[in-house]
Amino acid sequence: MNSETHLSGNLRKMQTRLEDVAHYTLVLDDVPIDMNAKIGKTIKLSFDGTINCIACGRTTKKSFGGGFCFPCFRDAPEASECIIRPELCRAHEGEARDMAWAETHCLVEQIVYLARSSAIKVGITRASQMPTRWIDQGASDAIVFARVPNRYTAGLVEVALKEHLTDRTNWQRMLKNEVIDADLVATKASMTDTLDADLRQFVDTDDTVCSINYPVDQYPEKVKSVGFDKQAEIEGCLAGIKGQYLIFDDNRVLNIRKHNGYRVAIS
Ligand SMILES: [Zn+2]
Repeated sequence: MNSETHLSGNLRKMQTRLEDVAHYTLVLDDVPIDMNAKIGKTIKLSFDGTINCIACGRTTKKSFGGGFCFPCFRDAPEASECIIRPELCRAHEGEARDMAWAETHCLVEQIVYLARSSAIKVGITRASQMPTRWIDQGASDAIVFARVPNRYTAGLVEVALKEHLTDRTNWQRMLKNEVIDADLVATKASMTDTLDADLRQFVDTDDTVCSINYPVDQYPEKVKSVGFDKQAEIEGCLAGIKGQYLIFDDNRVLNIRKHNGYRVAIS
């Protein structure tokens, strides 16, 4: 460790707060680091080769499903298939990897939302995760589409809307700040018209649009993704933060969330 190394710990996604400009905090070893304050400065992140599972803490050679060791990826409720494909959730029928976990994650109110980036996408989250989820995805703005009682129903609404809208964020275009010129309120109205009555009953009447600004001095013209599987040290002048990406001033971008559980030092 050199003398400039201040902090080290296992990476988790940056914590976010919605202010005039989205605010990012990276927590390493319980110490919060104000990442907005690092913009315009040179930072260095060094990976020490250790990955700890985000569920059980065990050391794992490889990360599965975004930060799990293989046994947890296979068995942990946070890695259930219904997280990616909510229409497969069976918690409402009493079936889950862990019913106690499902009670607080699947059998609580879910939000189906529309978020605008390079396209308008549909997504699902728990009410408690707004607007964090939208900031994590780098959305320019977002609107609540429907409020439903459980994950399964959210999946039904999402599957219906996916006939018309994407459910993916194009991260390269998001990072280049290529944003589609489209109206979320109008899109919500036209999507509502496509739904069957049994799902239309869940559409939320509140059409408030949540706008998000990101702390970015300079958007990249091209995007070159870098990561700790290829190089242990990543150093450069931080030009901004959007989604869960650090953007350096030479077009390189680092997806923090992709390195969940990686042990790094920052200086
Ligand atoms: Zn584990």
